Amino acid sequence: QAKAAGRNTLRFFDPSMQAIVTARAALNADLRLGLQQSQFQLYYQPQVDGEGRPTGAEALLRWQHPQRGMVAPIEFIPAVEESGLIIPLGHWVLETACTQLKAWAAREETANLNLAVNVSPRQFRQPDFVERVLAMLERIGADPRKLKLELTETLLLDNVEQTIEKMAALKARGVGFSLDDFGTGYCSLSYLKHLPICQLKIDRTFVKDILSNPSDAAITKVILTLAQSMGLTAIAEGVETEAQRDFLANQGCVAYQGYLFGRPMPLAEFEQFLMRTTTPPKLVDA
Ligand code: C2E
Ligand code: MG
Ligand code: MG
Ligand code: MG
Repeated sequence: QAKAAGRNTLRFFDPSMQAIVTARAALNADLRLGLQQSQFQLYYQPQVDGEGRPTGAEALLRWQHPQRGMVAPIEFIPAVEESGLIIPLGHWVLETACTQLKAWAAREETANLNLAVNVSPRQFRQPDFVERVLAMLERIGADPRKLKLELTETLLLDNVEQTIEKMAALKARGVGFSLDDFGTGYCSLSYLKHLPICQLKIDRTFVKDILSNPSDAAITKVILTLAQSMGLTAIAEGVETEAQRDFLANQGCVAYQGYLFGRPMPLAEFEQFLMRTTTPPKLVDA
C-alpha cells in the first residue's frame, strides 16, 4: 500500500506510468539531437486584414524528424517546455524570425509584413529574456515594431508584476504583444487593463461553431468589443469558411488567420502566396 510505503517513497503503481516516463526520456534525447542537427523549421501562416490582404504571418514551429516525418508542435512542445529545451529552441525560433523580418524589410513588397512569434511561459520567465531579445534584434538589424510576441494567459498565473515589467521594457523598444488563445485561460479583466499588449487573439474554439452556437457568437462579440474599447486590435484565429469570416466581419472583426486564407507553409510557399495575393501598386496617371 502507498501509505505503508511511507511518505517519501515514490512508486509507480501503474506500469503504464513507467512506459510514459521512458517514452518521454526517448523523446527528449531525440529533441536534443534534432536541435543539433537542425531538424526544426518555421512555417508561416498568413494573417490578413478585412480585405483579405496579407499583413504578416505567424511563425509556427515544425520538426522534420528523420523517421517520423513532419511532427506537429502539440507532439513535442510540452516535452521541450518540461525539459527546459524550450530555451535554446525558443531562441532559435526568435533568431530565425528576426532574420526573416530583416530579409523582408529589404524588399518593398514585403517591407510592411509583421511576424508573430509564440513565446512559451518558461522562455519568457528566463531572467535575461528581455536583454536577449533586444540584443538579438540589434545584432540582426530587424525592426522591433514588426515583431509581435504571442503570449498565453498561463504566463499570468504568477509573477504578474514582473511579467508586466518585462513586457513594458520590450514594448518601449517597439515590440508588440498579442494575447494568444484569448478567452480560454485565466486572465482576469483587471489584469488585462494593466497588460502592455496590442492585440487579443480570439481562440479558434470560439470561431469553430460561431454560426451554430450562440454562446460562442456572444463570446467573440464580447472580445471584439472589449478589444475595441481598450484600444487593442483583435484577430480571429482558425477561420476556415467564408461564412465564419462574414459573421466575424459583421461583428466588427478586421483581422483574420485561418485555413480559409492559408495554412501554415514553408517560407518559399509563403512568399509565393504573397505574390499571388498582393495586388501590384496601381500606376498613377501623370
Ligand atoms: P497557436 O499559437 O494558437 O497557433 C495556432 C494553431 O492553430 C497552429 O497549430 C495552426 O496551424 C492552427 N490553425 C491555424 N488556422 C487554423 C484553422 O483554420 N483550422 C484549424 N483547425 N487549425 C488552424 P500548430 O502549428 O499545430 O501549433 C500549435 C501550437 O503549438 C500553437 O498554437 C502554439 O501554442 C504552439 N507553437 C507553435 N510554434 C511554436 C513556437 O515556435 N514556440 C512555442 N513556444 N510554441 C509554439
Ligand atoms: Mg500563436
Ligand atoms: Mg492561438
Ligand atoms: Mg490555439
